[in-house]
Amino acid sequence: MTRNRADALALDAADPLAHCRQRFQLPADLIYLDGNSLGALPVAVGDVMAEVVAQEWGAGLIRSWNERSWIALPTTVGEKIAPLLGAGPGQVIAADSTSVNLFKLLSAALSLNPGRRVVLSATGNFPTDLYVAQGLGQLLGTDRCELRRVADDDIRAALGEDVAVLMLTQVDFRSGRLWDLEQVTDWAHEAGALVLWDLAHSAGAVELALDACRVDMAVGCGYKFLNGGPGAPAFAYVATRHQAQLEQPLSGWMGHAQPFAFAPDYQGATGISRLLCGTPPVLAMRALDVALDVWCDVSLVDVRNKSVALAELLIEQVQSSEALAALQLISPTNAEQRGSQVSFAHRDGFAIMQALIAAGVIGDFREPDVLRFGLTPLYLRYVDVFDAVARLEQIVADDVYLAAEFQHRGTVT
Ligand SMILES: *Cc1c(COP(=O)(O)O)cnc(C)c1O
Repeated sequence: MTRNRADALALDAADPLAHCRQRFQLPADLIYLDGNSLGALPVAVGDVMAEVVAQEWGAGLIRSWNERSWIALPTTVGEKIAPLLGAGPGQVIAADSTSVNLFKLLSAALSLNPGRRVVLSATGNFPTDLYVAQGLGQLLGTDRCELRRVADDDIRAALGEDVAVLMLTQVDFRSGRLWDLEQVTDWAHEAGALVLWDLAHSAGAVELALDACRVDMAVGCGYKFLNGGPGAPAFAYVATRHQAQLEQPLSGWMGHAQPFAFAPDYQGATGISRLLCGTPPVLAMRALDVALDVWCDVSLVDVRNKSVALAELLIEQVQSSEALAALQLISPTNAEQRGSQVSFAHRDGFAIMQALIAAGVIGDFREPDVLRFGLTPLYLRYVDVFDAVARLEQIVADDVYLAAEFQHRGTVT
């Protein structure tokens, strides 16, 4: 069914999340469909950061570690993320990057499952996940760690007796395909493997129930749907039942039971703070901390419902346009199998996306030919999706993207 602009406006008028948009600072006349790569700036972050710099750092100086509880930030920020993951207290910490957290947890998972050495993952998993597993394999040697990659459809069959940990990303970064987290976690457990989920494109976008699904470990990003700012600290989840035996190789002083005892030998803290390594990046932590407040009264059920509705509108509008017939939908058509993004393949995908960005609609391009549109229900309106497709249609119908200026690739795509 093709809708008109008035239908989109009516959907906005009835949107239970409509009031959240004003919590973000968004450039006028820009439609932002890339919040899955870098979330928009929450207004409060701009306000609070000026104060953090002037007061907490400038005036408080080193006293702020105690007086402003800087030292507790990894834990307090972790606890703010926990409800978004369906995680009870004491299991989530904000620290390092997703890649570094993967390294620590993969290594920890291998030691928790002795006698097994394989890290099983999907061929199309996000590259950093695969690279980190390869690096760990080089460090430990193949008799202790070997990455095995198989096609998505072969994951279950590949869960053999040598698999120590299944490492998957719940939402595929290209297609947006969404794994059934509970079912796949059960498969891993039935095969005697642990599961380590990468929730980079899940946290803040889909409903999660890590505790209820008996997930072992998870990691994810602070700067995507959580809006913590460029390079924001990441998070890590370890189920309480594994924490006492948890060994992680980046045994820095912040993960010590008593960092300020300055003892000569390492003794890991009890609990999730054992995952810490060095001093937390306070400014970045504070930005993420404040950004997380936008979720205080938000229901993830509403978020997910709106995400699905935005995606259906986008797909409908593209597929009902003759001019856009060459765009091939590569995301699952079934909403239950799709995260909060919609992707299309097109031979000239890169140039089309560049032209679209020049026309005030930011999405992104992923090799080799993927146009990717992230849907962030807290600040995106239905009318934005409607207008974005109208601009896309114009660019393709008028061959705007063939201009030389849209063919050049920067370092970051
Ligand atoms: C974005 C993303 C990352 C990013 O990792 P960094 O360490 O923050 O660079 C990792 N995994 C997945 C699946 C991602 O989408």
